[in-house]
This record gives sequence, C-alpha cells and structure tokens, in this order.
Amino acid sequence: MTQVANLLEGLNPAQREAVETVDGPLLIIAGPGSGKTRVITHRIAYLVQEYGVSPYSILAMTFTNKAAREMTDRLGRLAGPHAGALTVGTFHSFCARLLRIEGDFIGLSRNYSIFDDDDQISAIKQCLGQADYDPKRYPPRAVLSAISRAKNVLQDSQAMARDAAGYYFEEVCARVYRHYEELLARNNAVDFDDLLLRTVQLFREYPVVLQRYQDRYGYLMVDEFQDTNVAQYQLSRQLSQGHQNFCVVGDPDQSIYSWRSADVRNILNFKNDYPRAKVISLGQNYRSTANILNAAKGLIESNGKRLDHQLFTDNSTGQPVRVDEAYDEDEEAGKVIGEIKRLTREESFKLGDCAVMYRVNAQSRAMEEACLQQGVKYRLVGGTRFYQRKEIRDLTAYLRLVYNQQDDQTLARVVSVPPRGLGAKSMQQLGEWATGRGVSTFDAMREITLASRNKQPSPVSLPSRAASSIAKFVDLIERLVAISREAEVVKLIDVLLSESGLQKHIQESDERPEERWENVMDFRGIAQEFNAETPPDGLGSLLERTSLVSQVDDLEDAEDSITLITLHQAKGLEFPVVFIVGMEEGLLPHSRSLDSEEQTEEERRLCYVGMTRAEQRLYLMRAFRRNFRGGSGGPAAASRFLREIPEDLLVPAALSSTAARTVTSPQPGGGSSIRAAALAAASVAPSSGPALKVGDPVRHRAFGDGIVMACEVTASDVEVTVEFAGGVGAKRLLLSFAPLEKL
Ligand code: ATP
Ligand code: MG
Repeated sequence: MTQVANLLEGLNPAQREAVETVDGPLLIIAGPGSGKTRVITHRIAYLVQEYGVSPYSILAMTFTNKAAREMTDRLGRLAGPHAGALTVGTFHSFCARLLRIEGDFIGLSRNYSIFDDDDQISAIKQCLGQADYDPKRYPPRAVLSAISRAKNVLQDSQAMARDAAGYYFEEVCARVYRHYEELLARNNAVDFDDLLLRTVQLFREYPVVLQRYQDRYGYLMVDEFQDTNVAQYQLSRQLSQGHQNFCVVGDPDQSIYSWRSADVRNILNFKNDYPRAKVISLGQNYRSTANILNAAKGLIESNGKRLDHQLFTDNSTGQPVRVDEAYDEDEEAGKVIGEIKRLTREESFKLGDCAVMYRVNAQSRAMEEACLQQGVKYRLVGGTRFYQRKEIRDLTAYLRLVYNQQDDQTLARVVSVPPRGLGAKSMQQLGEWATGRGVSTFDAMREITLASRNKQPSPVSLPSRAASSIAKFVDLIERLVAISREAEVVKLIDVLLSESGLQKHIQESDERPEERWENVMDFRGIAQEFNAETPPDGLGSLLERTSLVSQVDDLEDAEDSITLITLHQAKGLEFPVVFIVGMEEGLLPHSRSLDSEEQTEEERRLCYVGMTRAEQRLYLMRAFRRNFRGGSGGPAAASRFLREIPEDLLVPAALSSTAARTVTSPQPGGGSSIRAAALAAASVAPSSGPALKVGDPVRHRAFGDGIVMACEVTASDVEVTVEFAGGVGAKRLLLSFAPLEKL
C-alpha cells in the first residue's frame, strides 16, 4: 500500500472528503471525538505527500501549548522527516516569533520582553499613579482586564477612548491604557495580548510584510476555532486573504473561553466571510463508549441556543457513568485514588490512562496530597506555574535584563535580589532622573558608573554606598551581556548564578532551600535545549518559552503517572479513564456564572468538554463540604448538571476511600469568624427536636445519611433542608415530624 493510501485508509468518507479538499476555504463543524484534529493532521500529511506542498508553507495553529505539542507528535508519526519544517504552534507562539523577526517595523527591537501577569499589574499601578488615579478606587486588576478586553478586539488606547465616551470607568481605563502603551514602548516590551494585537497592526500598516507571510504560508489551518477571539480571527483572515486556503475546525458546543473574549460567532460567521467555503460535518465519535457519549449529549441538550448536529458512535455500550459522593474534598480525593489503584490492580489500566479534572486550580491540593500519601505518581498540568516560582522568576528576571536592558520593570526586580544596598529611595531618585532624560534606568546607571570611573562628579546626588553598588551592578550586567553574545545559554546561567550571588541567596534562604535549588537545576535542564542556537538567539528562545509556557508538564514522564488537570486545559485531549471532581453547585457551575444564563451555559459546555475526554470510564464525583477558598466554603448541593444527565446512564459507585472518613461534627472551615458566626446563627434547637446546624451529618429512617444544608425557623417549627446521599438528593423536612437523628 502506498503511503497516501495509508493516510486515507484510516478515515471515514466525511473525514476523507475533508482531507482531500485542499483548495479554498473549508469549515469543519463537528462534535467531540469525531476526528477533527485527526483530519487536520492527516490533511497536512496529505498536502505534503500527495500534493507535493512544501512543509515550509504550511501553518497550523491551535489553542494551548499542550494541544500544539500533541499535534506535533501526531505529525511526527504521520509525516516523518517532513514534520520539522512545518509551522505548528499556538497563535501566541507564532506571533512572538514573527515579532522577533519583524518587530523593527513597529519599533520593537529583536530582544523585546514579554510582560507576565505580575509585570503587568505593577506596570498598571505605575500608570494609575501617573494618571493621578487612586488604585483603591480603580483596582489595577479590573483596569488591566478592561484594557485586555480592548486589546482582544484590536483597540488601541485611542479607539478605546472613542468607544468609552460617557462610560466613566472605561474612560479612566482608556487614559491608563495610553500611559501603559508608553510604558511598554519605553521598556521595549509587550504583554500577552499585544503579541496578537501588534502582529495584526504590523500586517495592517506594512502590506509588504504581510505579503511575504501570505506568500510563504500557502495553507493555513486552525484547530479549536470556536475559541478564537477577534484578534486571532483577524490574523487568520489577513494571512489567508489571497489564496483563501484556510481550513478551520471547531465545535460550538465546546466553546469555553468567552471570558477571554473568545467569540463563537467567528465560527458561525465563517460562511458569511468566506462565501465559497465548503462545509463538512463529521458525525461519528470514535473516542468514547456509547454510554459516555449519550450521557454527555444528554447534558448539552439542556443548553438553549445550539447548532443541532448529529453525533453517534459504533463503539460498545461500555459501563454506565459512575457517580459518587464524599463527605469532603479529602474523602473525595481518597476515593478517586482508591479507585485508580483498583483499576490498575484488577483491570488492565495504567496510571497514565487516568486523568482527574476539576473546575479551579485550588482543587488540585487535595488530589496532590492523596497522591503523595498513597505513593501514586502524578503530573499537574496548568497549575504548578513552574515559571512563576520565586527562584525561577528571579533567575529569568536576570536573564531578561541581560537580554533587554531597556526593561525597567525587570531591572526593578533584579536590583534587590540578593539585596545589594540600593534602597528604594535611591532607586526612585535614579528612576526620576532617568525618566526626565528619557533613558532607561540601566542607561542612567551606566552614565553614573562612567562618571565615577572617570573620576567625575556623579550626575545624580546619591549616597556613596549606592553609587558604588550601582557601579558593581553595571559591571556584572555588562559582563553577563558579553557572555550572552558568545557563550551557550547554560554557560551564561552558570556564571550568572555564581557571580550575581543568586546561587548563595537561594541556597541559604530560610524557605526550602534544597527544593528551590532543585527547581533552578530543572530550569537549567530546560535551558540546555537551547544551547545549540547561535548566541544570543538561544537566550531569546529560552525566554520566549518561559513566557509562553506556564506548565511543568513537559518535564516529567507521563507513562506511569496520573494527570491532574483543569477542565479548561483538558480541551482537545483524551484519556481512557476520567474523573471529574467537584460536581457541585457553586463550583461546577461556578458561583460566578450563576446570575447569567449565558454563563451557566458556558459552564455546561465546560462540563461537556470534560465528560467527552473519556474513552472507556467516566466518574462524576461530588463532596458535601469543601474547605478551600475557591469553593463556597460551606456545604454544597449536587450540581444541576448531574440531574440533567439521563438517569438510566448513571449508577451510584459507592467507591471505598483510602482516606479515613472524618465523621466528627464538622468544624467551620478556614477559621473564618464570619462563617462561624453564620453557622452559630443557623443553629436551632426547637424543644422537640435535636439541635441541628448547617453542615451536621444526619440519618433519616427512610432516606438514609445526609448533611444539613439549611435551617429555617418558621412560626411553629423548623424547616431543615437535608441533602441525602445515594442519589436520594435534597429534601425539605419539618424538624418536629421528621425521624432525623444527628450523627
Ligand atoms: P475534540 O473535539 O475533543 O478535539 P476531535 O474531533 O478533534 O475531538 P480527534 O481527537 O481527532 O477528535 O479524534 C478522537 C479519537 O478518535 C482519536 O483517538 C482519533 O485517533 C480517533 N479517530 C478519529 N477518526 C478515526 C477513524 N476514522 N478511525 C479510527 N479512529 C479514529
Ligand atoms: Mg480536537
């Protein structure tokens, strides 16, 4: 069989049609597990092998780093040696690369910095100050979000100001935005949203540059198109304008990023923007058992506005979806780990087959502890924020300064780690002097140093101790810059660690010095990958990686560890066994979404995405109580989504936990005095019945065990709402009649 026949062999007729449609716009709308990503990868391989298209002219973009890596892996298997010449990545990584090469056109030099969240917040604070606004009245986080929303619809500060007319908060934000733009320019820096915005602007203002990229990328493909925002859509349109060889795949039911300005209308409007577009839908799901698929379909049908499309599977019925309840998050975690151990012991599953998914990062804590207690290896996706750890941030800050000395934000971080006798006051004086002269802080330091080397009086009056610290600091950075231009990036890191005093600072720190040093060594390991690039490009690539990837997941071996992952991050992935934990009102759906029908629908889609990741087994878990801050803190009712799944597809699982169950009367969580007071107030003891308060475990003669969710004193009695286990659900009972026993 030829390679091409091979490529088409494993496809159904609709998928094959999509792969063989190589020219013109193509829209593939289809449900989860129907082979959308498979079509993209096969289509790329087909273009190269059958059509002789150069891999160099193919651009495929997707949403998360993880998804991009998966696609590269699949392509490596399909297209073999050609895979390296393809451009496959996220929108952000594509733009970051492009701006390194072309940024000069819009005043960004090659060594620009990418501001992370912390940098952004401190920059916004500074800009609020410049514009004379009180950060207490205008919280920096809220201002930043507003600016980010504007950037995502391609507005600069002027456009935002025009739109804001009359809306006071927006007007304030637009003014801060203008300062923020200037600050970024002064620092030779961009933020995350700018990567897209600035690229689109560049293409708009310099058609010759756009033309070059249009000529280069004759074929453009976008996966997870339902989650693109206006900027991403615009960028794709610019690139595909001429040839229109633009293939997008997506599923409106899986759109889960509207909070980041993703706009599902992009997929719905595609036909208007590309009237010639061919539309193909894929109806067969290959991923999940029939039970899992039908349970997920049952859930998503509760959403009002949907494009109806069929989705069926020929896979076996499989086992029912299993539902279980736990007393609290620790018991929930214990049950999950216990079941995973059973699956690996009694059935043929491996740890690497199992994933635990949750709504918010804070939920990983209980899971991680259970894994550690039970000696089960795990990898945490998206939550660790490896690059956010203090020691790593300090080291990368040095590297960033060595790469781009205009970056004042970074200099401010570096200059006091380790402390080197440069007080806040000296730094402020220095900063003001620099701003007055329109130079960066580092340039100002350099001038002062030069003056002292030439035995001239310092241009700024600083304490002499500060002046000598500055001179030493300038020496250090200049030496490191010189090394960065000729040596491998790992060599640079080694010199930096020892000469800056950072190594000593970390190894002698009070907090977990060994673990922190290990993290530094892990980072050094990552840096090794960039040693082959000519200096200082290796440093540039390393910094790009640290800005764009915030996960540690590529550091560890996935084979024999379970995956802990947020529902958002799980998009596009698949696992033989999936547990979704925290199926509770206020968590999934999240409490923030409850006042708008639209947002509740998005939460439902998120749950749908999670359920459809499962191939063979799916478990839905909930806990009566949850103590971390991200949750409601108190007892929680079962998620409405559990009721929306057809009942005949669910069974109670009654898993046994590896953790000891705490049946003692629950303590008010988190030591919050407000909550304690609320609990005390809710505690009622009518003369006839037992004293009950919210959170108490109780037993009912007919309904079994449950937890008190609410107590309400009426004229003559007390009405208690009890959430019963074992699928019985919530009941409202009158305390004087109900045969309730406090446990
Ligand atoms: P999602 O919407 O979740 O991203 P998707 O539509 O991208 O899903 P894929 O990940 O491409 O779906 O495919 C799901 C699974 O089904 C994969 O394991 C894939 O290899 C398999 N698959 C897809 N099409 C076929 C086919 N024709 N024959 C056998 N297996 C297939
Ligand atoms: Mg996919």
